[in-house]
Amino acid sequence: MADYDESNIFARILRGEIPNDTVAETEHTLAFRDITPQAPVHILVIPKGAYTTYDDFHANASDAEIVDFHRTCAKICFDTGIAETGFRAISNARLHGVQEVPHYHQHLIGGRPLGRMLAAPED
Ligand code: AMP
Repeated sequence: MADYDESNIFARILRGEIPNDTVAETEHTLAFRDITPQAPVHILVIPKGAYTTYDDFHANASDAEIVDFHRTCAKICFDTGIAETGFRAISNARLHGVQEVPHYHQHLIGGRPLGRMLAAPED
């Protein structure tokens, strides 16, 4: 990808340069615990390929990568129990989405009531 930043922290995790708390790994996908969890369950699911955002991944990844990614998300929901109690799947993208790490990732958040989906903007 032309605008993919190879130095982003998830790229460094994928290269094994920094540690992570892995919960699932497949041929195309890695899932690990968020370092600053917002709820009892807060897992990040990332493709191993160099994709920046939700739209980039779903437009450009292979069918095998996309299926593997979403099957892994579902397995995590079942394995952690949030499939039963409820959860939120969030993917922030670019400026308005306040994306901090420019490697596509899905937040899977649950384990407590999560409140309304969106808060009022701070500014
Ligand atoms: P986003 O704003 O959607 O880009 O979210 C990035 C997420 O990555 C935040 O929830 C961070 O807490 C999380 N994060 C940043 N660095 C790490 C890391 N080294 N290991 C696990 N999670 C991280």
